[in-house]
Amino acid sequence: MTAPVVPARSPEAVAAGVSEAAPARSSAELIRAEEPVLAHNYHPLPVVVARAEGTWVEDVEGRRYLDMLAGYSALNFGHRHPLLIEAAHRQLDRLTLTSRAFHHDRLAGFAERLAELTGLDMVLPMNTGAEAVESGIKVARKWAYEVKGVPADRATIVVAAENFHGRTTTIVSFSTDETARTGFGPFTPGFRIVPYNDLAALEAAVDETTAAVLIEPIQGEAGVIIPDDGYLAGVRELTRRTNTLFIADEIQSGLGRTGRTLAVEHEGVVPDVVLLGKALGGGIVPVSAVVGRREVLSVLRPGEHGSTFGGNPLAAAVGTAVVELLATGEFQRRATELGTVLRDGLTGLVGKGVVGFRSRGLWAGVDIDPALGTGREVSERLMREGVLVKDTHGSTVRLAPPLTITGEELGAALAALERVLTRRV
Ligand SMILES: *Cc1c(COP(=O)(O)O)cnc(C)c1O
Repeated sequence: MTAPVVPARSPEAVAAGVSEAAPARSSAELIRAEEPVLAHNYHPLPVVVARAEGTWVEDVEGRRYLDMLAGYSALNFGHRHPLLIEAAHRQLDRLTLTSRAFHHDRLAGFAERLAELTGLDMVLPMNTGAEAVESGIKVARKWAYEVKGVPADRATIVVAAENFHGRTTTIVSFSTDETARTGFGPFTPGFRIVPYNDLAALEAAVDETTAAVLIEPIQGEAGVIIPDDGYLAGVRELTRRTNTLFIADEIQSGLGRTGRTLAVEHEGVVPDVVLLGKALGGGIVPVSAVVGRREVLSVLRPGEHGSTFGGNPLAAAVGTAVVELLATGEFQRRATELGTVLRDGLTGLVGKGVVGFRSRGLWAGVDIDPALGTGREVSERLMREGVLVKDTHGSTVRLAPPLTITGEELGAALAALERVLTRRV
């Protein structure tokens, strides 16, 4: 190995983003350039986005696309929402990071507003969704030992099959997706997996060692799987009766996506702990949080858990602005109203290439007739029509546009889907 050659560049050139005589590269060149230097843990659609605003993204060549994925709900307010960008800019000019070694002037307000929005008491700020899930697991275990009285190291957590809670070693330990697991063992013990949407199976799995039931109120990655009416209320009743925590992973379903602030609200349920992420960062920075009842989150004492970047000033400023946008109710209302347009549009496509779909608010899992291609192939055809979506499994395509989408744009996306499904290929 030879030492890397560092090209001489002045600090001014670095600041101006000027690289050594590198001509602008085309989309195709940039995709090829990734191959040898970037880990292949994703298989992106062949589009190279260079800028975006609202519902629209633009590629390197200036082609425009309607974003019907919205960063898996990380972009619920669209790209670069003016109020969120303004909040970020203002904070960038004042203070960006302190670590939690010191207090900073944005954290109290963020926690107060987030607790108020969710109707819960305390906030544990983190960065990514997986960290919020990990933190929720740790808090639930500690609660089990200190409050419920589970013998040391015996706590169990009950989860649902087909779940998606992130990618850490502990989280993939209770995944049922072999692609996510194979090659990553040994796994963390202490999890019991039951079928989703099956209260009897859940009841059979919960015992005196159970710290928590951890589920998604709607399973996003699994294909927007919506449980039967009464399931979430049943989970709440069972967990209350058995002195077990109900942890709702609302990282994808929460913050307006389904027409409510939290998806559990559709059943009038208040969990003990809610995990938030994705849209909490306003599409600008990673911001996640564990929000919960005081009795649960107060099991943490200084030094027992933390994160250097968790709740940093920039994250708190953006997160506060996100909570303020949601507190207006406008985005929940839009998701409900336009969700009806989405559902009606998809209903019209059933039998015309769509074999079935599930939707709530501005969120849908659309099962395409496998004879017309895989979800991936349909996504590529939609891309050529100027609409970006993402397949989940097999022939299912997920639609999750920014909640700022207009009825007209939604209509255009549905028309593109119809063209892709009904045109001969
Ligand atoms: C995306 C997601 C996560 C993980 O979030 P990351 O920020 O990618 O770590 C966890 N749970 C659900 C339901 C998600 O959709």
